[in-house]
Amino acid sequence: MRPFSYARAADADAAIAAVRERPDGAFLAGGTTEVDLVRQNVVRPGLLVDINDLPLTGIEDLPGGGLRVGALARMSDVARAPGVSARFPVISQALLLGASAQLRNMASMGGNLCQRVRCGYFRDATSPCNKRDPGSGCAALDGFNRGHAILGTSDKCIATHPSDVAVALVALDAVVHTRGPAGERAIGIDDFFLLPGDTPEREHPLEHGELITAIEVPATPVARRSVYLKFRDRESYEFALASVAAAVRIEDGAVAEVRLALGGVGTKPWRARRAEASLLGQPATEASFAEAARRELAVATPRPLNAFKVELAQRAIVRALTTLTGGGAR
Ligand code: SF4
Repeated sequence: MRPFSYARAADADAAIAAVRERPDGAFLAGGTTEVDLVRQNVVRPGLLVDINDLPLTGIEDLPGGGLRVGALARMSDVARAPGVSARFPVISQALLLGASAQLRNMASMGGNLCQRVRCGYFRDATSPCNKRDPGSGCAALDGFNRGHAILGTSDKCIATHPSDVAVALVALDAVVHTRGPAGERAIGIDDFFLLPGDTPEREHPLEHGELITAIEVPATPVARRSVYLKFRDRESYEFALASVAAAVRIEDGAVAEVRLALGGVGTKPWRARRAEASLLGQPATEASFAEAARRELAVATPRPLNAFKVELAQRAIVRALTTLTGGGAR
């Protein structure tokens, strides 16, 4: 591990200024990913600015039914908040299915959105990796890519986004609030995650020194009937091979409103808009759900080792929708 400087910021402006001062400066929140990456020599900050003293831990029910979560709120606190578990069960469930209890007590919500990929080649500083070392190549393209993405890939990077709660937040059209040198801004969460394209090293539209301050979820009545399902190699402390965040409202036996997003299969938390469009107005039956899932995965670009994810994701969508509609046999 290389030596680096450490500073503790008392307020947001001081934190932003300190990081801006150094091209190799970075924020440190829960540290559950970042410290590992520093130890592994994958990231090499010259200065870590600890932001844990900033007053960004609130979890607030907004008038009108929305939710505002401070960027430093811990995953476990958000999962347990009554206003979250009752009105946005998909968020609670996604949080509780992520990481381990110890990590959930430490990891912040803002850090969760910014966590780096779990691709083994990214974390092995001796392997070619365009995300870690732009232009060096991608060892996963012809390597061990069983856990990699089948949606949103490019010939530069096929790593999946690892977050669970981000999948739920994408389904619910959350907004990421930031503060930086140019002031405050609000970024729709689907725009917050960038596809790898030709620049896989750039994962978010954040400028250097731009700090996430909060995540807002708009009032979403359909979210009261929502679920997060996660399919993985073992039932705890494991990343998704495929996951689904789903919410649905049925009227007279037909789908009147639906939200769907996928995890574990996309290079970003994947809003399943093709499936949503396919479902609207259709009978709430398993056949409709399967057709919507098929349409969403029709654009997948699997590799031999991860081709199983196409069917897994389709089945996951059907399972989530049948779970919410009581069998989907109407
Ligand atoms: Fe790096 Fe992405 Fe390729 Fe993994 S998939 S080796 S993160 S470029």
